[in-house]
Amino acid sequence: MNYFRDSRRIVVKLGTSTLTHATGHLNLRRIERIVKVLSDLQNSGMQVVLVSSGAVSAGVAKIGFGKIPKTAEEKQAMAAIGQSELMKIYDRFFSDYGHTVAQILMTKEVLTTPERRCAAENTFNRLLEMRCIPIVNENDSVSTDELTKFGGNDILSAYVAQLCRADLLLNLSDVDGLFDSDPRTNPDANLISRVDNIDDIFTSAGGAGTDRGTGGMVAKLKAAKIVTEDGIPMFILNGHDPEILYTLLDGGHVGTYFSAKK
Ligand code: GLU
Repeated sequence: MNYFRDSRRIVVKLGTSTLTHATGHLNLRRIERIVKVLSDLQNSGMQVVLVSSGAVSAGVAKIGFGKIPKTAEEKQAMAAIGQSELMKIYDRFFSDYGHTVAQILMTKEVLTTPERRCAAENTFNRLLEMRCIPIVNENDSVSTDELTKFGGNDILSAYVAQLCRADLLLNLSDVDGLFDSDPRTNPDANLISRVDNIDDIFTSAGGAGTDRGTGGMVAKLKAAKIVTEDGIPMFILNGHDPEILYTLLDGGHVGTYFSAKK
């Protein structure tokens, strides 16, 4: 099965652990390789939307904050510093491969307020028609509460995929996919290559991931539930080697595939 064959519009979510070193600084070599592969997909005729984490971590590293920000104010300040750093790097690398990026910072209210939702939808569509690559993050610097926050970029990427009417959501993180038990504690854990009924497997997932990201498997499964129930399939893939996207493009199978319900 070639998962990309019917996919014209794809949303790719990149986690903080994929984008940064253990020091918190941006992993430039990895980001450049990811950008090259995504540029290639865009060149092949696809429309790529990127949902990128990493702002808080990049902000912390940039000013040498020296600790994990604890308070909401600290996190918001770090995100404000790191977001521009992140976009500067994306802009430079995507420009090298001939592409234009566009920043979109979202809050939950954008989705729950009909006029704002419509405006966001139109903006995405216009950018994609113009062959730009929208790069989306939560507007961390101004989102503080339940009304405005998505609860992480795994969930945000699912809503963005819905908003853009994407054909496929690719969630790239530091895990190979969904396992039948926690691979960090059980060496015999097996990768589940395909999930058709997500409710069956919620109980087997757990773990919060690394201390640099916020996602964890439960958030990824919630994202998978949101999109698959809306007819959009999703993959969980390891972003360590971005070229695995070519394996999918060439008709191979990697990671965990969540089939769409309709
Ligand atoms: N928006 C956060 C950041 O850019 C990341 C949230 C997440 O990884 O879920 O740092």
